[in-house]
Amino acid sequence: GRPIPELLAEDGPSFSFEFMPPRSERAEAVLWNSVRRLEQLHPTFVSVTYGAGGSTRDRTVRITGRIEQETTLRTMAHLTCVGSSVAELRRVVGEYASVGIGNILALRGDPPGGPAAPWIAHPEGLDHADKLVSLVRSLGDFTVGVAAFPDKHPESASLDDEADALARKADAGAAFAITQMITDVDAYLRLRDLVDARGCVMPVIPGLLPVTAVGQLQRLTELNGQPLATDVVSRIEAAGDDLEAVRRTGIAICTEHSARLLREGAPGLHFMTMNKSTATLEVFANLRQSSLV
Ligand code: FAD
Repeated sequence: GRPIPELLAEDGPSFSFEFMPPRSERAEAVLWNSVRRLEQLHPTFVSVTYGAGGSTRDRTVRITGRIEQETTLRTMAHLTCVGSSVAELRRVVGEYASVGIGNILALRGDPPGGPAAPWIAHPEGLDHADKLVSLVRSLGDFTVGVAAFPDKHPESASLDDEADALARKADAGAAFAITQMITDVDAYLRLRDLVDARGCVMPVIPGLLPVTAVGQLQRLTELNGQPLATDVVSRIEAAGDDLEAVRRTGIAICTEHSARLLREGAPGLHFMTMNKSTATLEVFANLRQSSLV
């Protein structure tokens, strides 16, 4: 298949879906059902995350490999530096290659003690994602993506720092970036403009999560300290205990954000699916109705 950046440049906005390695047979059945339903939208690619501290390594390899081999989908596997020596990272990249995965999202990962804990690199490992980009690129013909933080990574001093980090990752050979969940489209546009201003021509794909439960937003803030746009929080909370109203509101917000991002020229949309498919399919149907996809 053609590399992702080529598809981004030629075929209009990309659409991609993110999955997590399932923890049980039952969860795996749910995942496969979602993969098959979302396959029908012909996404540009799908990605599979790498558990905190590399905890899902074998499952990430197996699931991504199976999706690559048993479906029509193009896959991307996430990979983090946390808790791994360079020798171990090389081995994982080799395993990805052996099951046919050619796209890798190169990440540093969060500190083992959680996002608020200080970051300590493995003594024989890598301290930042830019080095992992270089490593992966040196190991074969991989297309490498990286993470971007429009709400500012907690360890970055400013959004300018954030743009500098992205430009460094592009210099190391990253072909595109995917952002954390967007709750404020203006924040995405600010980061994109700062990246552009550095003469860096890397597409930055916004990440989106159709919120389907109040607790999801709280978990996001707790997990990675991400500030959430107040209008999003108040609209979701206004739906209160009415589960169906929360879902409807989450899908409406995600549709509005997606539509505005596309109108503002975002190169694609990357949906975090939480291994489900219905909410993402609904957002898609809405965008189709407005002829945006
Ligand atoms: P880096 O690019 O290394 O940046 C981390 C911090 O260091 C930033 O503040 C940056 O400004 C600074 N920095 C960067 N480079 C340098 C340098 N060379 N010198 C000094 N400072 C530098 N985590 C997982 O565990 N598994 C996943 O599958 C996963 N998927 C993700 C997908 C997306 C789309 C996103 C946005 C995040 C994902 N994460 C995942 C979370 C990510 O690993 C953490 O947020 C991590 O803390 C930052 O990763 P990074 O790759 O941006 O690190």
